[in-house]
Amino acid sequence: MSTDAHQAAPDTLDPARRDAILADHAALRASFAAGTTAEVSARLAQLEALRRGIRAEEPRLVAALAKDLGKSRTESALTEIGVVLQEITHTIRHLRSWLAPQRLSLGPLLAPAKGQLVREPLGTVLIIAPWNYPVNLTLGPLVAAIAGGNTALVKPSEVAPATSAALAHLLRTHLGPGWVRVVEGAVAETTLLLEQRFDLIFYTGNSRVGRIVARAAAEHLTPTVLELGGKSPVFVDEGVDLAVAARRIVWGKFTNAGQTCIAPDYLMATERTLEQLKPHLVKAVRALYGTRPERSADYGRMVSTGHFDRVLALIDDEKALIGGSETADRAQRFLPPTILDGVEVDDPVMEEEIFGPVLPLLVVDGPGEAIERIRAGEKPLTAYGFTPHRAVEEEFAARTSSGSLALGLTLAHIGVPGMPFGGVGESGMGAYHGRAGLEALTHAKPVVAKPLRPDTLRVVTPPYRGPRKRLLHRLFG
Ligand code: NAD
Repeated sequence: MSTDAHQAAPDTLDPARRDAILADHAALRASFAAGTTAEVSARLAQLEALRRGIRAEEPRLVAALAKDLGKSRTESALTEIGVVLQEITHTIRHLRSWLAPQRLSLGPLLAPAKGQLVREPLGTVLIIAPWNYPVNLTLGPLVAAIAGGNTALVKPSEVAPATSAALAHLLRTHLGPGWVRVVEGAVAETTLLLEQRFDLIFYTGNSRVGRIVARAAAEHLTPTVLELGGKSPVFVDEGVDLAVAARRIVWGKFTNAGQTCIAPDYLMATERTLEQLKPHLVKAVRALYGTRPERSADYGRMVSTGHFDRVLALIDDEKALIGGSETADRAQRFLPPTILDGVEVDDPVMEEEIFGPVLPLLVVDGPGEAIERIRAGEKPLTAYGFTPHRAVEEEFAARTSSGSLALGLTLAHIGVPGMPFGGVGESGMGAYHGRAGLEALTHAKPVVAKPLRPDTLRVVTPPYRGPRKRLLHRLFG
């Protein structure tokens, strides 16, 4: 997905701003080195503080999300604030057990000895967040960073400026400056941050910038978690309940006006299924957003005129089953839910991730062709399937590769705290949420201890002769 619409060339920062950013980075490193985050009780206290802070600042966050993205209060509760609160509660509940050292079995050679796997913090992490779920995707990684005992520098997206300001206020007011600091800004600020040494960079956004992040990280051998996007396909098989499938697909596609990393990007079905499905899709759009979606309190707006223009250009009115450019309103950044019929693989709308309220329908001759098309493209963040056949579900699971595979539903699986969420290949690397988040933001360190007496390790030292040699050959072949 191109974001060039809102990205100017990196301009230079004035020296005072630069010094302030470097001071934040240095303070977080010093705080980590001083042991601020070492105690689990201190981490739990920061997570509690974050939970209290979110509750206290909820009206401010909701207002900012409405301003930036036209999100309704309910959608913000469901997809932004609620999921983060749920993540915090889940993490607080389980953190001590997740951190409990795991016993390692060391085998006969080392006996007697004790082995444990200990989860240690990484240090200071940089979190670079996108604009589409700006609260969720900024604070979600932060929960894992704090739980893991790291200090964190948070860079919210400048493309959702009201939410960036509300997040900065929240974190500066409610969390300790020895734990979390916020740098607001765009390319210039992020470029400076990427030149600094961090112990992990957690980036969510498009894959073009993902490459910039990975290149910068390589300079310091810094590990990265890259949460990227791509074209998430949906296949609808013959014989499913089309009314329910249509409603779930329409909800997944048009939530946040299609600006969701795991939104179904395009839909594939046989010609016969599509003919039957189309009226259900149209009906579902009307049921969810009315006949005048511009008046629906539950329908969002494009984040910027740049993104509005980009997605508008993908709409071919001749193919519009519902929606189209006629009611589009640039001043309001409103694009109606649009479904395009008869789309071919080489149409412009199939080139890049759409990331807007446009759903192309493509004819395939069955699940086999749908699978082949998915395999021919980059690995998506999520693949979706609706089928009554267990064998088809299994074929999708075995023959397609994606960050996750959701059968019979869209979007809702991402809210499950126990499920690792992340991409594979072009859709990213690393996963988080719940325990997976803790694992991504800590190092699993084996700690092995062996008493000096009895001195059984003599067996591995030369000279290799007699019974010792025979024993080593028995153990190692
Ligand atoms: P964006 O424009 O907000 O960019 C993301 C971050 O990158 C911002 O903080 C921005 O300041 C920074 N950035 C931009 N240009 C940069 C540069 N040249 N150097 C350094 N940093 C830079 O968001 P976006 O990329 O438009 O987000 C949308 C994309 O993110 C879509 O592809 C979507 O699928 C993907 N996404 C993925 C997930 C996920 O969890 N996997 C979630 C949301 C979005």
